[in-house]
Amino acid sequence: MSASACPKCHATEATKSGIIAGRQRFKCKSCGYHFTVDKIGREVDSYYVIKALQLYIEGVSYREIERLLGVSHVSVMNWVKKYGLKAPRQTDYHPTYKILNHRELAEFFQQPENLKSAGMVITELGDKFMMIRWERFRPS
Ligand SMILES: [Zn+2]
Repeated sequence: MSASACPKCHATEATKSGIIAGRQRFKCKSCGYHFTVDKIGREVDSYYVIKALQLYIEGVSYREIERLLGVSHVSVMNWVKKYGLKAPRQTDYHPTYKILNHRELAEFFQQPENLKSAGMVITELGDKFMMIRWERFRPS
């Protein structure tokens, strides 16, 4: 991954270490330095393609996907086209999503009322978790 060379020691081995304000954060394997890259570059790995398409299917807008994942909405539109995806029309279900850390996720599941009248999917997002939830009925 040459796009993610360490600015301190120039080693090219880095591990992903979360997303900060839409920017991918890396941790250098040799010196432990944390750094971010401005835009997730032209070579977006399949991890982001899959996450973006998941969000698209769940009814999240292109702009919101851009904000959440730090990949441009134009890339997302291109992937949708490339893979020929069509999001089903959402009429009865109202998707919402939240970014939670592990503790917040655990707390959420301790409340039984949070699990009623809704479907949900939890997916890893950097060092956090994203919860997509479908309310059976729109909250009034
Ligand atoms: Zn380094």
